Amino acid sequence: MSRVYNFSAGPAVLPEEVLREAAEEMLDYRGTGMSVMEMSHRSKAFEEIITTAEQDLRDLMGIPDNYRVLFLQGGASQQFAMIPMNLMKNRVADYIITGQWAKKAAKEAEKYGKVNRIASSEDKTFSYIPDCSDLPVSEDADYVYICENNTIYGTKFKKLPDTKGKILVADVSSCFLSEPVDVEKYGIIYGGVQKNIGPAGVVIVIIREDLITEDVLPGTPTMLTYKTHADAKSLYNTPPAYGIYICGKVFKWIKSMGGLGAMKERNEKKAKVLYDYLDQSRLFKGTVVKEDRSLMNVPFVTGDAGLDAKFVKEAKAAGLENLKGHRTVGGMRASIYNAMPYEGVEALVEFMKKFEEENL
Ligand SMILES: *Cc1c(COP(=O)(O)O)cnc(C)c1O
Repeated sequence: MSRVYNFSAGPAVLPEEVLREAAEEMLDYRGTGMSVMEMSHRSKAFEEIITTAEQDLRDLMGIPDNYRVLFLQGGASQQFAMIPMNLMKNRVADYIITGQWAKKAAKEAEKYGKVNRIASSEDKTFSYIPDCSDLPVSEDADYVYICENNTIYGTKFKKLPDTKGKILVADVSSCFLSEPVDVEKYGIIYGGVQKNIGPAGVVIVIIREDLITEDVLPGTPTMLTYKTHADAKSLYNTPPAYGIYICGKVFKWIKSMGGLGAMKERNEKKAKVLYDYLDQSRLFKGTVVKEDRSLMNVPFVTGDAGLDAKFVKEAKAAGLENLKGHRTVGGMRASIYNAMPYEGVEALVEFMKKFEEENL
C-alpha cells in the first residue's frame, strides 16, 4: 500500500489515523457486530456517535449555547437556497462576491428576493478581497452573505466585513476548523465537510437559535426548513450517518492535535513554506494579493498553459496528486487542508524547485 500526497480541493485528504481507525471498526463497531454503515440511526450506538460529534465540535469552536449545530445533506450548494428560504423575511439580502461560490449563492437567492451585490472582486478575477469596512449595506437586508475562504481563487477574508448590525452568513466550506473562530460574530456558519473535515454528503450548519423559526418563505419544503432539523436534533429523517461518524473522528483528531489554535499554527507553517517559495521563484507565480492569501488553497501559474500541464503530469508521476487548477481558471492549485502533513508541502516545494531548474 502506498499513499500519495493528495492536494485535491475536495473531496480531499483525511488524517491517516482517522482512516485507520475507521478501517479497524469497519466490520464490528465497538462490539455491536456491525459497521456504522449498517446500523439504525435511532440506535444507542449512533446516538452516542452524533451527540459526541456535536459536543466535540462545540468544544473545538467554542460554540455558545444559543447556537444550534445541524448535520444536514445536500452539500453546501443546497444552503444557497435554504438560507434565503429561511432568512429572507423582507426578501432582501446583500452578497459580497468574491468568487464562483458566492456568485452561485447570490444567483440562487435571487429566486427568492432582491439580491444586492454590495462588493465584488470580479474586476481582477477574484484575486483579492474587497474592502468591507464601509459597505453600502441595505437598510432592509435580511442578512449579509460571504464566502469566507474562496476555494477556487485562494483568497480568504482576514477580517470579517462590517455588516452594520445585519446578520452575517458565511460559507466556510474550505476553511472549516482551520483556525479559531468567533462564532458569535455570525448568524449562520456553514460548510460542506468534504473539504476540511470528512467525506462528501454532510453539511454542517451552525445557526443562532433566534434564526430558527416557522416563519419561512411560503412553499419552503419541510426538509429545507432549519426548524425541522433543529427540533429533531438532525434526526428528522435518516442522516448521512457514516459521514457524521467520520466527522466525529476528525473532531477527536483535531482535539488531540491541540485544537484550532494549534491547527492555525500548523496551517500557517505549511502555507509559509509554499508562499515563500512562490515569492522568490522565477518560474511559478502565486495569483493572489499577499494580504488576502488563503492558508488552505494556494493557486499558482507558470504563465504558460503547456508548462502548467507538464508540471501537473510530472507531479502526479512523483506522487503529488490533484494539483490541476479549477477548470474555470487553469494553472495549478495546491489545497493544503488540515490533514495535509507538513512533509507533503515540503515534498511539493522540493518538486517545484527541481521542475524550475529543469524548465527555466
Ligand atoms: C466546494 C464548495 C462548495 C460546494 O459544495 P457542495 O457540497 O459540492 O455543494 C460551496 N462553497 C465552497 C466555498 C466550496 O469550496
